[in-house]
Amino acid sequence: MNNFAMQTGIQHLFYDFNEDDDRIYKAIESLAKKHGDRVYSAALSYLFGKNFTIKQAGHYWREATASINQTSGPNQSFRATLLNYLRQKTTELTNPLIIESRDLEAIRLAAVTDGLTQLYNQSYFKQQLQQSIDLANQQAGQTFSILFFDLDHFKQFNDRCGHLQGDQVLRQIGKILRQHTGELDLPTRYGGEEFAILLPDCNLENALQLAETIRESIARESFSGQDRLDTCNLTISGGVANYPQHGTNVGELIEAADRYLYEAKGTRNAILPRLEEARVANRHQFNNIVEFKLAGQDRFTPALSSDISHTGLSLKCDCSPAIGTRVELFFRHPFWPRNLETIGQIRYVGHNSEACTYRLGIQFENPQDNFCSMLRPESLDRN
Ligand code: GH3
Ligand code: MG
Ligand code: MG
Repeated sequence: MNNFAMQTGIQHLFYDFNEDDDRIYKAIESLAKKHGDRVYSAALSYLFGKNFTIKQAGHYWREATASINQTSGPNQSFRATLLNYLRQKTTELTNPLIIESRDLEAIRLAAVTDGLTQLYNQSYFKQQLQQSIDLANQQAGQTFSILFFDLDHFKQFNDRCGHLQGDQVLRQIGKILRQHTGELDLPTRYGGEEFAILLPDCNLENALQLAETIRESIARESFSGQDRLDTCNLTISGGVANYPQHGTNVGELIEAADRYLYEAKGTRNAILPRLEEARVANRHQFNNIVEFKLAGQDRFTPALSSDISHTGLSLKCDCSPAIGTRVELFFRHPFWPRNLETIGQIRYVGHNSEACTYRLGIQFENPQDNFCSMLRPESLDRN
């Protein structure tokens, strides 16, 4: 779980359990059992707006909650106890203000979002990118991707339709980017008519598929005034970079995405690198039945796999779940050499209008290096 996911999880916990401090406290403790002191750091950061190191947060939390257990009754608010502890026993809080969480949330959101498009802003994007890198550098096997977009011939659009109409286009683009991203992705207005998306846990291939979907949907959208462009259609170009394939620090990743974007401007209305070139070499054609169950559903539905790698697979089916939806996958015997189950997340949804089917790009939550070999009949001989 990356830091952004952790912060989002903590925030949900405070909303989901409303004002029930006791339940929130217990939920934080049980999360910390699973994920360690990072949970305390995220909780203290959420409550007090300060970034404590993981070690410091663990120390403060244990000291303060020890005093909860010793001195206060079961109804004592743990927030009040933490506040008193930090005020009286440390120098962390000298002049705190108390503010209703929803009001503070609105202020926090305003600090990290762009007013025109309601997307995240560049400084928040860079901050989260750095955090994703720090985390990925500590854990082997982590991957994530960034997408950079730039509107094509937007100066011409402004010159011919006016800035107000141009602003309306930017708002529409914001809406499209939000529609195509999940809760943990970071759709961002990077600059004037430049956009970026940070995609946690997303490999290059899935990132390119998503970039293509966005490019297509913008090319299809009828923006008011676009007929005045020389091309008569408002389009976008994009570049995609992946950690660790294109770089392992902020500079390298942004430079790679920027370079691809610049190359894509050679033709415009294009995404680079090309999806076909980026397809990972170890993808296998397994055209077979795979059953899937989307979060919230109570039974499996059969679908047809087209290709499978150890990090994910493509499924042909007749529904179009939202990006980010969790999905259980079942490879059932005798279609496969053995019953195998795994969990993934929808990263891409493409529509084949002729066949009336959808192609889902699914990324596995816990990739296993030997996954594809377990799907081969020969694998049984080895056991
Ligand atoms: P290219 O296809 O090469 O990207 O051409 P372009 O005309 O889009 O690129 P260029 O960088 O020359 O122009 C970007 C234009 O974006 C300049 C400015 O008119 C417009 N722009 C930047 N920010 C805003 C904004 O907030 N609102 C509006 N309406 N226009 C903006
Ligand atoms: Mg530009
Ligand atoms: Mg442009």
